Amino acid sequence: MAKKGAREIVGLVCKTCKSQNYVTTRNKVNMDAKGKGKLQIKKWCRQCRKVQLHKETTKLK
Ligand SMILES: [Zn+2]
Repeated sequence: MAKKGAREIVGLVCKTCKSQNYVTTRNKVNMDAKGKGKLQIKKWCRQCRKVQLHKETTKLK
């Protein structure tokens, strides 16, 4: 199957310190179909020096 326009690149921003620590891709088609909103994931934050909740952002720095 062709993967065309299904995935978009998003940044992951720490909710606490607002620093963009990760860049990932997200499957827009699947996520929208499931009715989920913004992607949220727990990841290591270098600024906070602990695992923090990261939120997706389309504004890449
Ligand atoms: Zn942080």
